[in-house]
Amino acid sequence: MISLDEARSFVLGGCEPGPAVTLPLADALGLVTAQGAVADEAVPPFANTAMDGFAVRAADTAAAPVTLRVAGTVRAGMSGADSPVGPGEAVRIMTGAPVPPGADAIVMVELTEAAADGSTVVVREAVPEGNHIRPAGDDVVAGDRVLEPGTVLTPGHLGLLATVGLRQVDVVRPPRVGVISTGDELVDDGSPLAPGQIRDSNRLTLRSLVAESGFEAVDLGLVRDDEAAIEAAMRHGADTCDALVTSGGVSMGDFDFVKVVLDRIGDMRWMQISIKPAKPLAFGTISRADGTRVPVFGLPGNPVSSMVSFELFCRPGLRRMAGHAAGDLDRATVVAVVDEPLRRRPDGKTHFARVACHYDEATATYRVRSAGAQGSHHMAAMAAADALAELPDGPTVEPGATVRVRLLRP
Ligand code: AMP
Ligand code: MG
Repeated sequence: MISLDEARSFVLGGCEPGPAVTLPLADALGLVTAQGAVADEAVPPFANTAMDGFAVRAADTAAAPVTLRVAGTVRAGMSGADSPVGPGEAVRIMTGAPVPPGADAIVMVELTEAAADGSTVVVREAVPEGNHIRPAGDDVVAGDRVLEPGTVLTPGHLGLLATVGLRQVDVVRPPRVGVISTGDELVDDGSPLAPGQIRDSNRLTLRSLVAESGFEAVDLGLVRDDEAAIEAAMRHGADTCDALVTSGGVSMGDFDFVKVVLDRIGDMRWMQISIKPAKPLAFGTISRADGTRVPVFGLPGNPVSSMVSFELFCRPGLRRMAGHAAGDLDRATVVAVVDEPLRRRPDGKTHFARVACHYDEATATYRVRSAGAQGSHHMAAMAAADALAELPDGPTVEPGATVRVRLLRP
C-alpha cells in the first residue's frame, strides 16, 4: 500500500494544465485566466452624478437657502452638452447622467424644493465642490491592469471586464471528461432486474460530480466486461475527451478487464492506497495517435468508493488540468468537533467517514456525526452526507475530539 500523499502527487503529476483558449465572457465563469488583461477604456467614461437631484455651481449654494433657475434636464444616456449650467442656474439630473458643463456639484433631490411649474428650485443647504460627482476614471483608468493570469473568474471579474469594454478573455481550456461504467451485472435502462443484476448508479454520480466541478461530462456509456468492448470505448473516449473516468474492473477480480485493456493500451499505475474506502485506484494515460496523452482515472466500482475516489483524485486532477493553483484543488476543508463516536479500528489506513456536518452559531464550531452506515456500498449515508471526515489511523474518534472535514456542499 502507498500513502494518500504519494498517490495524489502521482495523479497530479499526470494532469497537465490545458492550452489557452479565448472565450466570450459569458462562457468563462469559474475558469482560470491564461493571460492578464489591460483596460483600454476608463470607468466611468465621463463624470456623472451618483444621485438624482440638481447639477449646480457649488459657489451658488454658499448662501443657502437660495433659489436657482432650472435651465434643463439631463437623464442617463444623454450627453448633457446642450444643458450647460450658468451662474444662478441648476439643471435637473438623474443618477448616472453626465455632469453638464459649468456644474461642479450635485444637490440631492431631498435637499431641494422645485417650484410647481418647474421653472425654479430652492436649494436648502450649501454643498461643496465635487458633491456626489463620480469623476471620469474614478474606478479604472485606461491602461490599468484589470486582471492577472491565474485568476479564477468570478461574476465580479466578468463584470469588471465587461465594464472596460472587453468582450472575450483568455482562459485555460477546461477538460471535457468522458465517463464510462463497466460491469456485466449493470442495468441502465429501467428494466426489471434479472437475478444477479444491479442498476448502474456510478455513471450518473460521476457525470454529476464532473458537472458539479464545473466541467463538461461526456456520457461514454455502460460497457460490458468484454475486452474488445472496453478497448473500443476507451479508445473512442481518449480520441474525443481530455480525460476519462471509469468505474469498476480495477480490483483483483477475474473479470476485471478494464485492467487488462488499460495495461495494454495505456501507461498505467495500479495503486493500493492506505485509505478506506477507495483503496484501489488506477491512474495513467492513453496516448492518442497525435501523441497527446489523455489522463485516465480508473475508479473502484463500489459506489461510495468511486465518489470518495473522485473527491480525492479526480476533482483535484481535473482542476489542475483547468489551471487551478496547487492550493486550490480541493473542496473547502474545516476542523470540526465530533458529537457522536466515529467508529473505526486501527488498520493502517486513513478513513473518510461520511458525516452530517453543521455550523453551530452558539459555539462558533463545525459539528459532525455519522451520516449512517459506513460500508463502501452504503449510498444512503453517502447521499445524506454533507462532508467527509478524515479519521487518521487509530481507534474510534470519541466525542469532543476534532477532525478535519472536506465539505461536500458550500
Ligand atoms: P468492481 O470494481 O467492478 O469489482 O465492482 C465492485 C462493486 O461495485 C461490485 O459490487 C459492483 O457490482 C459494483 N459496481 C460496479 N460498477 C457499478 C456501477 N456503475 N454502479 C453501481 N455499482 C457498481
Ligand atoms: Mg466489475
